[in-house]
Amino acid sequence: MSSALENSIVYLKGVGPKRAELFEKLGIRTVKDLIYHLPRRYTDLSSPLPIAATVLEQPNVVKVTVVSKERPAMIRRGMTVYRLLVTDGADDMTVTIFNSQYAFDMLKQGEEYILFGKVTGNFTRREMSSPEIRRAGDADRIEPVYPLTAGLTQNILRNCVKNAISKMMPQDVEFLPADILDSAAMMPEAEALRLVHFPQDPNDITHARRRLAFDELLTLRLGMLSLRERNRSYTGYSMKNTDMTPFLAALPFRLTGAQNRAISECAADMQKSTPMNRLLLGDVGSGKTAVAAACCYFAAKNGAQSVLMAPTEILASQHFESLRGFLGPSGLNVSLLVGSMTKKQKEAVYMKMKTGEADVIVGTHAVFQEGAEYCRLGLVITDEQHRFGVEQRSALAKKGENPHRLVMSATPIPRTLALMIYGELDISVLDELPNGRKKVDTYAVTGKLRSRACAFVRKELDSGGQAYIVCPAVDEGENMFNVTDYAAELEKGEFKGYRIGVLHGKLPAAKKEDVMRRFKDGALDILVCTTVVEVGVDVPNASIMMVENADRFGLSQLHQLRGRVGRGERASSCILITDNVSEESRKRLKILSSTSNGFEISEADLEIRGPGDFFGSAQHGLPPLKIADLAADGELIKLSQDVADRIYDTGRITLPGCAALRKRVEELFSAAAD
Ligand code: ADP
Ligand code: MG
Repeated sequence: MSSALENSIVYLKGVGPKRAELFEKLGIRTVKDLIYHLPRRYTDLSSPLPIAATVLEQPNVVKVTVVSKERPAMIRRGMTVYRLLVTDGADDMTVTIFNSQYAFDMLKQGEEYILFGKVTGNFTRREMSSPEIRRAGDADRIEPVYPLTAGLTQNILRNCVKNAISKMMPQDVEFLPADILDSAAMMPEAEALRLVHFPQDPNDITHARRRLAFDELLTLRLGMLSLRERNRSYTGYSMKNTDMTPFLAALPFRLTGAQNRAISECAADMQKSTPMNRLLLGDVGSGKTAVAAACCYFAAKNGAQSVLMAPTEILASQHFESLRGFLGPSGLNVSLLVGSMTKKQKEAVYMKMKTGEADVIVGTHAVFQEGAEYCRLGLVITDEQHRFGVEQRSALAKKGENPHRLVMSATPIPRTLALMIYGELDISVLDELPNGRKKVDTYAVTGKLRSRACAFVRKELDSGGQAYIVCPAVDEGENMFNVTDYAAELEKGEFKGYRIGVLHGKLPAAKKEDVMRRFKDGALDILVCTTVVEVGVDVPNASIMMVENADRFGLSQLHQLRGRVGRGERASSCILITDNVSEESRKRLKILSSTSNGFEISEADLEIRGPGDFFGSAQHGLPPLKIADLAADGELIKLSQDVADRIYDTGRITLPGCAALRKRVEELFSAAAD
């Protein structure tokens, strides 16, 4: 399908090679790119205000007639000021224009104009400076405002877009069959594009946006479904149901209902002839490791090996300890494989893996490196997977012999978001904390109470506890310096005589591991750190956390952070220090004191801060959503998912009528891979 829209914009009227280069900077190469370069916002010229009603210090729209023009005044070299008097019939106002003879000349005495600009002055005298000027007759009522780059102006953009739109034929852009549009009450694509650029009234924007957001969500979902299909098109290890009693009997606790449910879901998956692809979504401390252990047990009893991969060595050894505790009593062999082991140690583990002596291998990336050969790898578990992208996730799936896959994420995210981000996975949720898990008492205080907070921390240290002191990573570049400085300050001041370790993202991995290890072993009293501790390291003796500048963090992130304490016998607390005394900040932090349910917190966070903050924006590896708003478009997400699932499940996606749709899906994912 080739249309005029696929042409380079060089061929568009008003665009030559020079301008084309500027457009290129905006990512615009073809006419179609230009059509999909959407307004960032709009200037509404449709309802001008009387001069007397304009809002001071704000941009306002007025409709006025030029009464008189003053002689231009050169106030200094290179700076000419032009003044005019305008009236709306009732009041008059001075308009000041700096340096633009063109704008000044454009305004003719006795003629009517729409002006848009900031109004200053007082209640009796008003002034507008450097307004945008439109002749009253031919002003669009609502004007698009585009993202720009130096050398391009709004006017150039508007004219070029207008031109491009006039060349667009409905069949060039429509990619959904008519009956689908009808059933979802969506307008044609061409109309949506025309209206999103040149709306006649605000409703047009809403409706056009709805169609374009729907497009985005629908193609994203379809892309996820085809990823899922790709992962599923292999046969995995079809396992037999297994008596879990010996495993359960060896556990030092009773599983929660949520854990039991998740284990049953995994067991059912592993009995199918296609590989399991499941996300285990659970709050901090919800007991994901025990679920992972159960799956390993299930696999081992079916004669298959399991591997659990963690992002850091310290997490890997922690999982190793836990799994050995859970599975050792049942006679399973659990082995650790990490990069820092000697060649000889590694080779010993390789041997156990190869011969099948090892039932479960726990490690870092080392578990997939050269030399690591498996005997019958039936289950791959990855922890904290949200740090990897979609592509990496599916690359992992191709390893081994099409094993079952379990992904553990410690970020409790709202279900709608989980469905978008992990759309190619099935989801099990651990929404229940084990009994006896201590609530972390959380207090938000202002900086004035810092020294009292420090005294509180010292008291905890003196009675044998350990503390985290967290400060935000403001600027990655300077941050290293900041944290180190800050720690030095604490060492000289409030925490003189205590053993303090420093941990931040810029440290080499080995150094990080070393500091974390010493803290875990009790050789340090205080760990001063940035959010690197967020990842689930277990130090049961750490019972207090103090967070500086707490309002700089997302609520979910703070919740993750405080999950580092309250893991042992000691009553635990978290002190959030903030100098932001605004009502909103207080309200936000109060949510943390009032609930310890990570899902509730993440819903609130999604509302307040939007989805970007759950992961650093690039980290989820998804194509960026330009239009749809995951926080606000709940209805639309549901609708697009239903429609996508129907198109997919009925096989309609493979029919000729959906060729254009298939192309869209491919484009979306290939753009994300760039
Ligand atoms: P997370 O989901 O954060 O990874 P973990 O698996 O590390 O949580 O479990 C947190 C702690 O709770 C561990 O010490 C674990 O042994 C314990 N635990 C797990 N499940 C239960 C349970 N059902 N009852 C009591 N304690 C449990
Ligand atoms: Mg964990």
